[in-house]
Amino acid sequence: QTLLQSYHSFTPSDSLDQSIHANTPRDKTSDTMTATQSNEKSFKDKEKPSQIRSSNMIAAKAVSDSIRTSLGPKGMDKMIQSANGDVTITNDGATILKQMQVTHPAAKMLVELSKAQDIEAGDGTTTVVVIAGSLLDASQKLLLKGLHPTRISDAFQSAAKACADILESMAIPVDMKDTEALTRVASTSLNSKVVTQHSPLLAPIAVNAVLKVRDQNYVDLRDIKIIKKLGGTLDDTATIDGLVLPQRFANDFGAKKVEKARIGLIQFCVSPPKTDMDNQVIVSDYTQMDRILREERAYILNIVKQMKKAGCNVLLIQKSILRDALNDLALHFLAKAKIAVIRDVEREDIEFVCKSLGCRPIASLDHFTADALSSAELVEEIPGAKFVKISGITGPAANKTVNILIRGSNKLILEEAERSLHDALCVIRCLVLKPALIAGGGSPEIELSLRLSELSRSLVGLDAVCYRAFAEALEVVPFTLAENAGLNPISTVTELRQKHANGEKNTGINVRLGMVTNMLDENVVQPLQVTLSAITLASETVRSILKIDDIISTVR
Ligand code: ADP
Ligand code: MG
Repeated sequence: QTLLQSYHSFTPSDSLDQSIHANTPRDKTSDTMTATQSNEKSFKDKEKPSQIRSSNMIAAKAVSDSIRTSLGPKGMDKMIQSANGDVTITNDGATILKQMQVTHPAAKMLVELSKAQDIEAGDGTTTVVVIAGSLLDASQKLLLKGLHPTRISDAFQSAAKACADILESMAIPVDMKDTEALTRVASTSLNSKVVTQHSPLLAPIAVNAVLKVRDQNYVDLRDIKIIKKLGGTLDDTATIDGLVLPQRFANDFGAKKVEKARIGLIQFCVSPPKTDMDNQVIVSDYTQMDRILREERAYILNIVKQMKKAGCNVLLIQKSILRDALNDLALHFLAKAKIAVIRDVEREDIEFVCKSLGCRPIASLDHFTADALSSAELVEEIPGAKFVKISGITGPAANKTVNILIRGSNKLILEEAERSLHDALCVIRCLVLKPALIAGGGSPEIELSLRLSELSRSLVGLDAVCYRAFAEALEVVPFTLAENAGLNPISTVTELRQKHANGEKNTGINVRLGMVTNMLDENVVQPLQVTLSAITLASETVRSILKIDDIISTVR
């Protein structure tokens, strides 16, 4: 709403208004009239492209401004209420933007930008949007000076390339065995979240989890399962060895736990078969009725017997959509055979379960043999906590996953803790892919700004102007960090600039002490990849916004 309003107050002409709101219902005749009018206009009107461009920029900048206050360790959180009344409290840029109902097409590009950064690096999702907003501001000023958009766009591209080179040269290599350094990176990422006071606990959990599931240079975060359980506090958060399933035992097999478990994961159903098509069988004879029941018993008994013969005593059953994966009769027989049943294992969890247990799902009864089962010391239902825990899993392919159990006093905290932990996991993953660090706290941005303006002096003409504008735009990160921390942004940024000019490359904003100090001493470090992709992606989006000169809506 406010976005649209702010956008409205800036729209200079009617034709523009139509192109955005073409999907609002109007009566047909006036519709066709305005369409032809605006068509003619679009050829004659030399003003229109620049108006469209400026309205795009204003809309996108409004988005960026709205999340600026969330940047950094002293950044604020947002409380977002969705249409169905759900409330989210978050500090994560990608989440805030995803939940905001942005309607303007250019503003949507910033939402996508944040999403892209989330995929590329996982952290820095606020930073990237703030930088993009500032670059848009810069390009608007350049446009006012009369520079051509294509010219600005090209210059920004080479400036971003220069930034990447400078960043690479600033990077500090990190050894993946140095868990302390990794923990520092994870803590920096957690610093700016609600869970910041728990970062001494959460950071090592994140580091160990990623290092455990890491396979050479590849980390699949799907191998780390975060389970949220209401109750307790974040201090009770822990890694759980083995496998945790959010189900309970489906049958009463005479005990509460199974020791020396032999576990089978099946994808077929233990219930009477059905035909593919819907059909009816009418039974009119009592003896036939009897026979159907007998056959059903025999059919299910046969399955259960074979399972027992293979030595299975815990059965995991995949959720079935076509028919009941398990009927009451089967549950009864399985309980008699002392086989514990856990039903409704979600389809998307199957891969995770397999990696944890080191087994393969069994797709038909013929394959249900002793060597298809996996072994574990203990399968038990945790009293009160409504989940089943499998521990002491043995086998060569087993234990390739990590379970992290987050406890919290309310749902909002739990969800934000999960998002924060996700960011921390992502930054460690970044380091596995590219083991290089840089200092944080606005120091890389100031250094880039300085070096870029030095570079601009060696250039002539319009490129020099654009480089300088790009350099100034990058200062938005330290500026905002200072602003959010309650410092005087102008004096802080000028002090930073001066220190960097004297060669103190790693000086940044120390929010804890409220002054400018060396960020490496303060242990504020972040992966190179986060800053690198933030600058590259932001400039890419700004360049594409610059190049748009018309909005054509096909919605009538
Ligand atoms: P994002 O969603 O972009 O990651 P954050 O709110 O996490 O946004 O803020 C990240 C910024 O905060 C980075 O520029 C980082 O260098 C800075 N930062 C994080 N911790 C500190 C700290 N302790 N002191 C100063 N700056 C910090
Ligand atoms: Mg962050």
